Amino acid sequence: MIDGIEIVDAHMHIMTAATNRWIRQRLGEKDPGYRRAYQLWSDGFRKRYDSELGEENEDPPEKLARDWARELDRHGVDRAVFVALYPEEDELTQVIEAGGQRFYAFATVDPREADAAQLLRRRIVEQGYVGLKLYPTTMAFLPSDRAVYPLYEECRSLGVPVLFHLGITLQYEADLRYANPIELHPVLKDFPEVPFIIAHFGAGYFREVLFLAYHVNNLHVDTCGKNVWIDYLPYRTTLSEVFERTLQVFGPERIIFGTDSRMLSRGYRRAVLRQQLGILRSLELGREEISLIMGANILRLIGGSKT
Ligand SMILES: [Zn+2]
Repeated sequence: MIDGIEIVDAHMHIMTAATNRWIRQRLGEKDPGYRRAYQLWSDGFRKRYDSELGEENEDPPEKLARDWARELDRHGVDRAVFVALYPEEDELTQVIEAGGQRFYAFATVDPREADAAQLLRRRIVEQGYVGLKLYPTTMAFLPSDRAVYPLYEECRSLGVPVLFHLGITLQYEADLRYANPIELHPVLKDFPEVPFIIAHFGAGYFREVLFLAYHVNNLHVDTCGKNVWIDYLPYRTTLSEVFERTLQVFGPERIIFGTDSRMLSRGYRRAVLRQQLGILRSLELGREEISLIMGANILRLIGGSKT
């Protein structure tokens, strides 16, 4: 709690040594040309951001859960929703189990795989996941592709939301041909009962996300991360203005707070929390509206308590 407001971080990740093993294994399956290009890109990433892509954490899931819980305590964060990075990630299942009522998770699947819908159902029904995360740019599919529809149908029957990362991304695999949120429009219309969330205000495609809100009511945005995409727009704006526009278009019921915290060694992204909470207060929102954005909205979408 911060000043009596329940804080739920709706978008975090867990990076472990196992995550890195998946990344390396996938890379190992590519041809030498791809691997060389990846190497050049990752060297550039380290220089540009003075950061590794992930961290090598070999701790067992129970310890990871304990350490993250302590980290959240330090910053007044009540609950967290962890978003899976890879379909194979079973560590996340164990972390959320160990985290009890406090941790939730969105599963991810590759819609190109024949068993994607079964994997999703298993994650949700048997393992306690509360939503689906899809990443069209890294998995090279369009959200409107009919091949993805069985997944949306599964989400509708399970009553869980779908989170999309569209727009720009740090991932090397990204292909911006699959980045435009407009591609989601037919899906939003075909599945009006399913709540959809677009992460990072559309990560550069802010205009498109606002346009979608003109047409549909089942779309939400998450605010997560440092929102570096703002620096790549052809015009100047600020995160505060982005919040203001989003509030005007979406209203406070469809905006969801998150930090994209991911590395325990770097700690919880307190600066993101402080900045966004500060912006909401400066926009003179009421306490009720701030509570919606900082936690109540995501709890409403995921059903609030675990079964
Ligand atoms: Zn993320």
